[in-house]
Amino acid sequence: MIAVTSHLLPTYSRADLAFERGEGVWLVATTGERYLDFTSGVAVNALGHAHPHMVKALTEQAQKLWHVSNLYRIPEGEKLADRLCSATFADTVFFQNSGAEAMECAIKMARKYQSASGKPERYRIVTFEGAFHGRTLAALAATGNKKYLDGFGPPMPGFDQVPFNDLDAVKKAIGPETAAILIEPVMGEGGVRVVPLPFLRALRKLCDDNGLLLIFDEIQTGVGRTGDLFAYQHTGVEPDIMTIAKALGGGFPVGACLATTEASKGMTAGTHGSTFGGNPLAMAAGNAVMDVVTAKGFLDNVKNSALVLKQKLAELKDRHSSVIAEVRGDGLLMGLRMVPPAAEMVDELRAEKMITVAAGDNVVRLLPPLVINEEEIAEAIARIDRACTTLAQNHARAAKEKVAT
Ligand SMILES: *Cc1c(COP(=O)(O)O)cnc(C)c1O
Repeated sequence: MIAVTSHLLPTYSRADLAFERGEGVWLVATTGERYLDFTSGVAVNALGHAHPHMVKALTEQAQKLWHVSNLYRIPEGEKLADRLCSATFADTVFFQNSGAEAMECAIKMARKYQSASGKPERYRIVTFEGAFHGRTLAALAATGNKKYLDGFGPPMPGFDQVPFNDLDAVKKAIGPETAAILIEPVMGEGGVRVVPLPFLRALRKLCDDNGLLLIFDEIQTGVGRTGDLFAYQHTGVEPDIMTIAKALGGGFPVGACLATTEASKGMTAGTHGSTFGGNPLAMAAGNAVMDVVTAKGFLDNVKNSALVLKQKLAELKDRHSSVIAEVRGDGLLMGLRMVPPAAEMVDELRAEKMITVAAGDNVVRLLPPLVINEEEIAEAIARIDRACTTLAQNHARAAKEKVAT
């Protein structure tokens, strides 16, 4: 299953499968076989593959200008920032090339805010167990996953991790050095865990009462994934800083850190930078995604698809209760908590020509492109159904053999 003859650094255990093109929710392998894509490049390909509007926008931009650096104005970036701000709580945007970089900007911004507010001693950030914020040293320290930190020297100081959904633990963690609280409204990698609304509200209040900033990591949930443009928008709780990335470029690497004027007040000229961040090609991709996702009816369709998918998954769970323990998630960020190891389900689904991705807490994530239609959902359900049947049979057989020996 693992391809070994490669000069790529082996930090990923890759499936021995390569794709050469894609059409909508379908990926075509080098063997010619068609796979139903329920991974979307890990929540990236929001518009599926080879979306005509994306292809046109990128082709046109590629013929004009790719990169100029941030020493000059970039009208496409000003336009995208303007659109992101008019659609959200934010007043200002810094563009980057990835989620982890957007997190770096958010972490620096929160520290700088406190410093610019006359409280330079405040630099610590409260984070949550099971979180994922990226793989740079600061984002990893925020993530706090021991497995990812092991062997990389002392983790960057300044992060206090507390159990998820435990308000008393958050209160205890807040001290004279605390600058901010950082959370994903839906924990993606951590197992598709939706943060309960009362908890989010309580975090907002704690921040307001203590002069802290609230940072939402919407790198996975943002840009339509949950059926709203951003997940926070159906919670009624607004952050001070928000990171986004994944779906923003629809497959082109783009990340962004959004903030209010107040939260960003320390980030003056010279305090932060990026050579590539916000280049015209990336901004053309971002604007093309926004054209489609904010078009009338698009997010309503996402909500409808999500409802259909959720109902059908609930039916599957009832019929395959020995395989699926729980269906959870928000919008088209769905998770199946499995009875057998989640990796077995991912393998079985791949055998059914459907690709998914595992997450923490023994969950299989279902992340279809947002453009999926009902017919494609029905096809996915049929494949999940067959995979569940096979897994149930395999486990029943294994249990029988165990009894027999
Ligand atoms: C993917 C992800 C990141 C990291 O993004 P990269 O582009 O891989 O650096 C951070 N936070 C969340 C919630 C993510 O899902």
